[in-house]
Amino acid sequence: MGSVVISLDAELAWGYHDFEQVPACIDTARESWLRLLELFDEFDLPATWAVVGHLLLDSCDGVHEDHPTPDGWFEKDPGTWEGRDELWYGESLVDAIEDADADHEVGCHTFSHVEFGHTNRKIAAAEMRKCVEIAEERGLSVDSFVFPRNYVGHRDVLAAYGVSCYRGNQPRRWYDRGVTGSVAKFLGWPTRTVEPTLVEPEIDEYGMVNLPASLFLFGFEGTARSMVEPLAGDPVVRMAKRGIDKAAREQGVYHMWLHPNNLTEERDFERIRTVLAHLDHVRSQTPLTVETMGGVAGKIKNDEPLPREPIGPR
Ligand SMILES: [Zn+2]
Repeated sequence: MGSVVISLDAELAWGYHDFEQVPACIDTARESWLRLLELFDEFDLPATWAVVGHLLLDSCDGVHEDHPTPDGWFEKDPGTWEGRDELWYGESLVDAIEDADADHEVGCHTFSHVEFGHTNRKIAAAEMRKCVEIAEERGLSVDSFVFPRNYVGHRDVLAAYGVSCYRGNQPRRWYDRGVTGSVAKFLGWPTRTVEPTLVEPEIDEYGMVNLPASLFLFGFEGTARSMVEPLAGDPVVRMAKRGIDKAAREQGVYHMWLHPNNLTEERDFERIRTVLAHLDHVRSQTPLTVETMGGVAGKIKNDEPLPREPIGPR
């Protein structure tokens, strides 16, 4: 039987600090983060929260002089503390993840939301070094990793810093392109060709487990969603349910992901609640399991232990 994994890119303002403006959806991101934790607890479902490392600082100078990112990278960093600028620091939110009843995993989403597909090795290594330091201070380890904006890169550096699992890119299908594809995908038509994507975790050449994504839970928004939803119900819910059902019948992992700041309206919470309720129900009726990224990786690595040699600076 298969399993279901849910991962979250938890970044608050850091997800947008390199944009001209940090968008308004961020203003409610902390509240959404906490409400999501409540929803996961309601159904006792664990998730992997890939948190931007900077959120774990209790305060900072706003300069980060020793960090090799280009000039201006920390321009919007307020250089204060959580009580003052709560979109740039998040220790209490990470406490909430750890204090939750559901057995969540705290993962890593780089230190300052650097796109690893578009940066150099020195910066990637510095980002990872920072994350490992901060995690260790908290008694955490950096096992599971999510690439900012899904730009995969510098995997050797991840391996050198002890990462054991990352979220790889979703396999691309014909319906992943264009508006027609998008409508087809979420309306599930033609049904036989638009199948939910179960992924197979694989050990890559660095000994890490690549667990690709199956479905972004907020990939069908705006006008398209508003037009379709009243007629056919929430298309993402339908797709997610079909994926969960498939994972209950077949081998493979159905890996859904989202950002806490994707939830800004009540209908967004309703979507997640409906998906989690379905997942809980199917889990109770079938051998389907719900796991964290680290849980999936742990099982595979136990089956096939690989020696690992450190690469790069530490
Ligand atoms: Zn800072």
